[in-house]
Amino acid sequence: MTRLFERLAVAGVGLIGGSLALAAREAGLVGEVIGYGRSPDNLAVALRRGIVDRVAEDAAVAVADADAIVLAAPIGACAGLAGAFRPHARAGALLTDVGSVKAGLVAALEAAWAGQGPVVGAHPVAGSEASGAAAARADLFRGERCILTPTPATDAAALARVRALWEGVGARVEEMAPETHDELLARVSHLTHLVAFALAAAAGGARVDGRTVLEYAGSGFRDTTRIAGGAPEMWRDILLANAPALGRALDEFRAALDRLAGLVAAGDVRGLEEALAEARAIRGRLGAKR
Ligand code: NAD
Repeated sequence: MTRLFERLAVAGVGLIGGSLALAAREAGLVGEVIGYGRSPDNLAVALRRGIVDRVAEDAAVAVADADAIVLAAPIGACAGLAGAFRPHARAGALLTDVGSVKAGLVAALEAAWAGQGPVVGAHPVAGSEASGAAAARADLFRGERCILTPTPATDAAALARVRALWEGVGARVEEMAPETHDELLARVSHLTHLVAFALAAAAGGARVDGRTVLEYAGSGFRDTTRIAGGAPEMWRDILLANAPALGRALDEFRAALDRLAGLVAAGDVRGLEEALAEARAIRGRLGAKR
């Protein structure tokens, strides 16, 4: 495959940044990969696993001569990282990210990188509740969707290079406006996580007749709350960054919950079965996932 970037700096070599680096190296899309991060232990894992060629603890060293920089830290840290890299980056260096919320972040990155180089927002819709370089996998993005969120300011050539990077690691690339992305993901990802965290919290301290509720949790509770195992720091940033769209998604969810609760309270046998059948059919449309 054609090499897209001679020197790629990855800030935050965790599950997503590490998997992208690993996959891009394996596919021959990048020359040298430099890892930059907050945790020396995690960077040591990245180096040992061959995810990066070298690590840098200094922002200037991390981005020196990089033709592209990928921000893969929690989204609340990304604009600050762009600001810290800017004085040391090569003119024209491409800045991209993998953040799970786009509108505010892409605008902040465009402001931080104005006059420096092109900015392309990206969100690979793949991952898990695992974190850190130890969890990185070269096949994480294969067959999965990656959403690019160009704005009127996005450079077409830079967008094409970022598309080639994600396609090169096996992702199905789609483009949409950042705001559209945030409304969609609020409903199928951010709300889902908030609900899982709430379910875990509600059952957490509960006791019934002296017995600890959580000890009786079966596979349904485990499956439904699996994603509450996600990193609190990352999810804090995502929920806060997408608060308005998440609020709208929560209103829709409350309405659906109230509808079901109302049918249960009314003892409406037929209405409840119909509502459950409708929800089951929707779930069935998702199809199988690896
Ligand atoms: P992760 O915890 O595995 O990795 C994040 C890395 O960033 C860690 O290595 C951490 O040490 C480093 N880091 C934290 N603060 C930093 C800072 N200030 N400067 C430099 N490095 C810093 O998390 P992840 O799952 O790889 O998530 C990273 C990004 O990817 C987030 O923005 C998240 O929104 C996005 N994302 C996550 C998923 C998912 O399922 N986990 C999916 C798509 C996108």
